[in-house]
Amino acid sequence: MDNRPVILVIDDEPANIEIVTAVLEDDYDICFALSAEQAIPIAHEARPDLILMDVMMPGMDGYQLCRIFKADPALAEIPVIFATALGDDEAEIRGLAVGAIDYVTKPIRPAALQRRVRNHVQMKQMRDQLADQALRDPLTGLANRRMLERRLQAELLRQARDGGQVAVMMMDIDHFKGFNDSYGHPEGDRCLHAVASAVAGSLRRAGDLCARYGGEEFACILPGTDLDGAVHMAEVIRAAVQGLAIPHRASLVADVVTLSIGVAAGRSEVGITDQTWLTAADRMLYRSKLAGRNRVSAQPLTSGQPVSEAAIIDTIPQRCAGAGVKAGI
Ligand code: GH3
Ligand code: MG
Ligand code: MG
Repeated sequence: MDNRPVILVIDDEPANIEIVTAVLEDDYDICFALSAEQAIPIAHEARPDLILMDVMMPGMDGYQLCRIFKADPALAEIPVIFATALGDDEAEIRGLAVGAIDYVTKPIRPAALQRRVRNHVQMKQMRDQLADQALRDPLTGLANRRMLERRLQAELLRQARDGGQVAVMMMDIDHFKGFNDSYGHPEGDRCLHAVASAVAGSLRRAGDLCARYGGEEFACILPGTDLDGAVHMAEVIRAAVQGLAIPHRASLVADVVTLSIGVAAGRSEVGITDQTWLTAADRMLYRSKLAGRNRVSAQPLTSGQPVSEAAIIDTIPQRCAGAGVKAGI
């Protein structure tokens, strides 16, 4: 069955793993590790919804392992339950002090273990849902500005370390105020949803991220992409939005909804912040707007500075393929 919660059971005694598996396997996918050392890569791979672990193990013990999990941002949110033969107060308090959410004693009592696990998995899933909502835009389902900025900060650090490039795009729907005024706000919302899908659907690489940055503004991060690659992708996005052929009678530049796009791309360097990149992309967006909208302007960045006016790439929109570009623009 798909999408069942995953439980990682860590115990040096295979018989204990068998007992726990028998109690939980009807409701969960179970994976296991026979030592703390083995458990770390398995936890990274499986990303379980809950970890049930022994305290006393040869080599690293459960307390140490729990500390490692709690210090690892990728694993820290996974609830840990200690299952151990130690019944004394001190061991229980120590387990909770290193970050375990609960503590059960062996021999395992099946009904109580099932209930505890179910409660903790439910709470974990609720926390995951809330965390996801805090980083997502409800109208379009895209990442929101907060998530984009977080990812951009992380990506800039990673690429600075690896000597890699980053491209950032800012995009804004042309004359969207007029669209709302002409067709009404609900139709405006439907338009935003369609544009968001066209933008997100144009991105191909797993590491690319597309976000709703503000009202009718979107932003994309393309890790490992240079200026030419980013200009190509921006054109693909621009054409995809125009290709939706959403009528826009209030637009001064086309008969359909269009996007203006600004791009900044270059090698990431330590100390150059996400805001520098976003501002540079925004400057290029402004240039596209001034130049007539429904187009792409892109500038290379070096050490956070625009290289030169001469290095800017401006695309001219195709005036064919049913774009219905208005005369004289
Ligand atoms: P420009 O081509 O210069 O970008 O012109 P514009 O009219 O798009 O620019 P402006 O920033 O003046 O207007 C943005 C409009 O976007 C204003 C607001 O009505 C609309 N908008 C912002 N957020 C939403 C939203 O969530 N839903 C809808 N329907 N409209 C929105
Ligand atoms: Mg705007
Ligand atoms: Mg706009």
